[in-house]
Amino acid sequence: TRRYSAHAPKGPSLDGVKDIIAVASGKGGVGKSTTAVNLAVALANACQLKVGLLDADIYGPSVPTMMNLQGKPEVSKDMKMIPVENHGVRCMSIGFLVDKDAPIVWRGPMVMSALEKMTRGVAWGDLDILVVDMPPGTGDAQLSISQRLQLSGALIVSTPQDIALIDARRGANMFRKVEVPILGLIENMSWFKCPHCGEKSYIFGDGGVQRTAKELDMKFLGEIPLELDIRSSSDEGNPIVLAAPNSGVAKAYTDVAEKL
Ligand code: ADP
Repeated sequence: TRRYSAHAPKGPSLDGVKDIIAVASGKGGVGKSTTAVNLAVALANACQLKVGLLDADIYGPSVPTMMNLQGKPEVSKDMKMIPVENHGVRCMSIGFLVDKDAPIVWRGPMVMSALEKMTRGVAWGDLDILVVDMPPGTGDAQLSISQRLQLSGALIVSTPQDIALIDARRGANMFRKVEVPILGLIENMSWFKCPHCGEKSYIFGDGGVQRTAKELDMKFLGEIPLELDIRSSSDEGNPIVLAAPNSGVAKAYTDVAEKL
């Protein structure tokens, strides 16, 4: 079995969980959750690992939709929440706990106590890997999650656009500050594949993330195109790695999962 803990200075912080890996981004809307969900499903299915997925994106939880899960988690005898499972992945999200239409207006300390409940208050069972869909950005919340969870490593998702790259750099620096090893950069929306003719256009620029990875001395883990099927399968709660397992995109995600 794979072990990431070898990289980690302290080792993971949840009983029974071998490794905790964050999927992070400098800003919202770059496809961080899509990446986290597809990697978790690939790790569980193609790589046959015991996988959990924590939706730490308190203000914009997408795991319930993307994993086609709803309803409240049951509570175990020792008063821990039992994660809700689909596609072979045990999931926890604030979306299971609060009403979808209720605006979440919590302040920092409440967010941290909610996250505490969603990590240590969950009966995860034995897991090879817990994938954490981080909140977007690189502020105090992200820093504090990284420290409390004693992450084994972090993946950074970025689009090729320059501005997103600047943010990805900031993210990289944040993880370095708390001594979390960066496992690599993933480029999302690398090109647009026309659903009619299949031709590629590099809408957000070409090769930007790969260049940055080189500059920052990080691994470049792969590139995922902007593709209609990725969005539609996410919206249907059937991630593309399962919806179209033989597609190039599914192979790209599985490749990243296998490289971890
Ligand atoms: P983030 O977590 O960074 O905010 P999401 O993963 O929620 O971003 O993605 C934002 C939107 O873009 C979603 O509707 C998602 O389905 C879509 N999306 C993400 N990556 C792709 C892609 N490679 N191709 C097409 N749509 C994508």
